[in-house]
Amino acid sequence: MTRVVYRDFKSFHDETYYCGCSEDNLSDKTCIEKEWFCNKCNQFIEVVLDGDNGENIIFNRIKANKIEVDMRVNVDIYKIYEFHYVLGINALENGKLGIGLEGYGRINVDKNYFINCRVDDN
Ligand SMILES: [Zn+2]
Repeated sequence: MTRVVYRDFKSFHDETYYCGCSEDNLSDKTCIEKEWFCNKCNQFIEVVLDGDNGENIIFNRIKANKIEVDMRVNVDIYKIYEFHYVLGINALENGKLGIGLEGYGRINVDKNYFINCRVDDN
């Protein structure tokens, strides 16, 4: 899987964008401009990947300062099936956030950094 790195988020090479309010998929430009909220209904945009077994993997792209305990976050876009539960969030002295993840440890990120949170039922 090819990695595409933008300044404030990481995306998967072949992701597509949807919202339940619309039958059409959304453009990446629109999604980025609206910070991964739908510009029609203001819900989180669904970022969709085709999984190896034919099932879609769906996640929301959420700013670090909106991350909550028990969300499932991806920290390595080379490992699309690997998600870790958020155990706790701390404000650090350097202005960043420390997010503790089950089975992984802590990641330190900017408050405005977007994190991929898995939201399908698998
Ligand atoms: Zn919508």
